[in-house]
Amino acid sequence: MALVDTGQQPASLGGQSGAPPPVLALRQITKRFHTTRQDVVALDDVTLEVRPREFICIVGPSGCGKSTLLNIAAGIEMEYEGKATFEGSPITGMARERAVVFQEPSLFPWLNVRANVEFGLKLRGLPKEQRREVVDRHLALVSLSGFDRAYIHELSGGMKQRVQLARGLAVEPRVMLMDEPFAALDAQTRDELQLEIQAVWARTGTTVVFVTHNVREAVILGDRVVVMSASPGRIKSIIDVSLERPRIPDDHAVADLAALVRYELQDSGVAGPRYAI
Ligand code: ADP
Ligand code: MG
Repeated sequence: MALVDTGQQPASLGGQSGAPPPVLALRQITKRFHTTRQDVVALDDVTLEVRPREFICIVGPSGCGKSTLLNIAAGIEMEYEGKATFEGSPITGMARERAVVFQEPSLFPWLNVRANVEFGLKLRGLPKEQRREVVDRHLALVSLSGFDRAYIHELSGGMKQRVQLARGLAVEPRVMLMDEPFAALDAQTRDELQLEIQAVWARTGTTVVFVTHNVREAVILGDRVVVMSASPGRIKSIIDVSLERPRIPDDHAVADLAALVRYELQDSGVAGPRYAI
């Protein structure tokens, strides 16, 4: 069953009695960018609460503020109106508990795969033996065992994103913030990684906020799909996805729900009413 709900009502987004407190709470966020040419309202009164262990997908047209919202959650973007909290405390900058994965892998080309994944663990001062164990475990998790000595330029796009995923997960973040991580990949690799990230997520229990402009991907991965609209950037609706996992692209229920999300994305889509399929 899927339920469409308006996105602008904080009470409907996890504030129900009995619901666990949100891991991440973005409340009444408004973000304006001032440039010499124009002023842009990138986000207009956006409220989103992310529950523990939840997989949240955010979809919306280009320029609707998806990256801006993620950057606020990451602590990269610090100037805005409203309140952003992580586990109840204000977000005041980037932190290990909130790992970020971008579309373009930001790996160190002069380091091999092992050293890339190990990097954050070294910063944390983890002893060598422990680092080895953690890296091995996370490379296995993303099906990259045996590639630990490879250099980044030797890897395919999909493998690079797997390394990013392993590197993000190795520091055991409470939340993974992912900005269109699969957008630059070919369709087959994307399908593979969609399956893989579902398995990884199920095993690690990490909360994930995942931005994509691919509606089907959002339905495959998300517990909830947040639909945004542009100019100004707003949450139009939030759709619950309670289909069984693992979900695959060819599944009819996935396709049906993707059609509903696409409808919501269209300007003619009716924002507001609740309905179920
Ligand atoms: P999305 O990720 O959904 O494509 P963004 O969050 O990147 O959207 O951008 C939202 C809006 O804010 C867009 O209109 C974009 O042009 C504007 N914007 C984003 N970053 C900046 C910036 N650093 N300076 C000025 N405008 C920006
Ligand atoms: Mg973006």
